[in-house]
Amino acid sequence: MTMTAAPLAVLVSSRAVLPTASGSLTISPATVSVSPATGKIVSVVAEIVPRTSFPAETTYLDYTPKLLLPGLVDAHVHLNEPGRTEWEGFWTGTRAAASGGVTTVIDMPLNAIPPTTTVRGFQEKLAASEGQCWVDVAFYGGVVPGNADELKPLVEAGVDEFPAISPKDMALAMKTLKDCTTTLMFHAEMEEEPRATGPSNDDDDDPSTDVTAYQTFLNSRPPTLETAAVREILSAAHVAPSLHLHIVHLSAAQCIPLLKEARAKGVNITAETCFHYLGLSAEEIETGDTRHKCCPPIREGRNRDRLWEELVAGDACIKTVVSDHSPCTPELKLLPEAAAPGRDEERKSGKEETNNNNNNNNKTNPGDFMSAWGGISSVGLGLPIIHSAAKQRGSKPSKTPTITDIVRLCCQATAEQVGLSHRKGSIRTGMDADICVFDDADVWTFTRADMRWKNKCSPWEGHEFTGRIKETWLRGRKIFELGAQNGGFAEGKPFGESITEKRTV
Ligand SMILES: [Zn+2]
Repeated sequence: MTMTAAPLAVLVSSRAVLPTASGSLTISPATVSVSPATGKIVSVVAEIVPRTSFPAETTYLDYTPKLLLPGLVDAHVHLNEPGRTEWEGFWTGTRAAASGGVTTVIDMPLNAIPPTTTVRGFQEKLAASEGQCWVDVAFYGGVVPGNADELKPLVEAGVDEFPAISPKDMALAMKTLKDCTTTLMFHAEMEEEPRATGPSNDDDDDPSTDVTAYQTFLNSRPPTLETAAVREILSAAHVAPSLHLHIVHLSAAQCIPLLKEARAKGVNITAETCFHYLGLSAEEIETGDTRHKCCPPIREGRNRDRLWEELVAGDACIKTVVSDHSPCTPELKLLPEAAAPGRDEERKSGKEETNNNNNNNNKTNPGDFMSAWGGISSVGLGLPIIHSAAKQRGSKPSKTPTITDIVRLCCQATAEQVGLSHRKGSIRTGMDADICVFDDADVWTFTRADMRWKNKCSPWEGHEFTGRIKETWLRGRKIFELGAQNGGFAEGKPFGESITEKRTV
């Protein structure tokens, strides 16, 4: 049998975001040849090579003037399977990702049952994910009291690390991992000690406290909860000087000077922020609209401005932007009747009145910000969110991220953060052929019908965006095309992989 070279697909555009020799990014015309057989980018030419230069059997697609971007790497997603699959699952969560140009998601250890805090829990998760992933999925492990012995085996199994519970557990985790090539991540919210005197902010028994007012919830989680946690982490950083420390979902801008000062002293610490902290503000959240509840909370517009500024600052401490996609059932969101959406077909079967699975001990109180589950659904919506918000801010005096900044924050740096920069997050020869075709001029409104995650509930419903994903390619094959059959999933069968290689960078 004669071996012939497998046919290539060639993606062309007058505008692609490509890496330069120095590692920065630039917009350039590009001809990107990908191999569906190997899943890799075969070549990148920084000009438009005409169709006639390729063999007749080559698939040649000219997307001009749409943008060719690397597939996004969303480094913070909760898929909740197994155990809380009614909240989200591999199938629906990764379809939502694929529809938004996201080709890699990193699953968080918490909220699934069992959580990924032991090697056995991790293996159960892997088994549950099999055959269900429309994009590639990697995993974080979790630090909980008493599992220090599991941490090194989890790292060996290709799992990154997640937050500690008490300062003691945190220091122990740092000590255990100090010589590992991994990242220790922190959900940075903790009560200050001793509690500040004076009027208490979170006196739930006070009948004058309106739990449907967003301000009540915001007052209960002030910036000091975040700054206190950051200070605690920094005070222990000397235990593991070479370990990479990372703050997940940073919301309070007051943390920025603390982190910058530590970085200037050589502490290896970074932070991520989330699309909802950049695209939403406390002032616009209506009474009882618990779709906006997340922890730490969405803060005021002036806080948001400082987060935006840090994204493009010199030696920025905020290196990445992620979704923190964290859904639950509408029942747990305690939505007011008018805002309550359905969860796929099940709700039509008449089961929606049974609230027995509601873990919440409080009486169901629609619009109660204090009792509602905290978490926002947005996986796959990040690029339209950040692109639209950046465009809107264009007139502001402060520097605003460009499309190359966005690719740095959502593709290149997120891949680096999770140790996948050798194969993800960049349009470069030899990398996984993960491509997002983005029409940055398309103006559209996000509706419930556009939600591909399991529970059709998100504060982004009804928002108008500029920029929409037209196609997504995973390892050399088109997995999503807007408007195509089967909800855009032309391939019919998912071929996303679980990434379990032990990280080395
Ligand atoms: Zn999270």
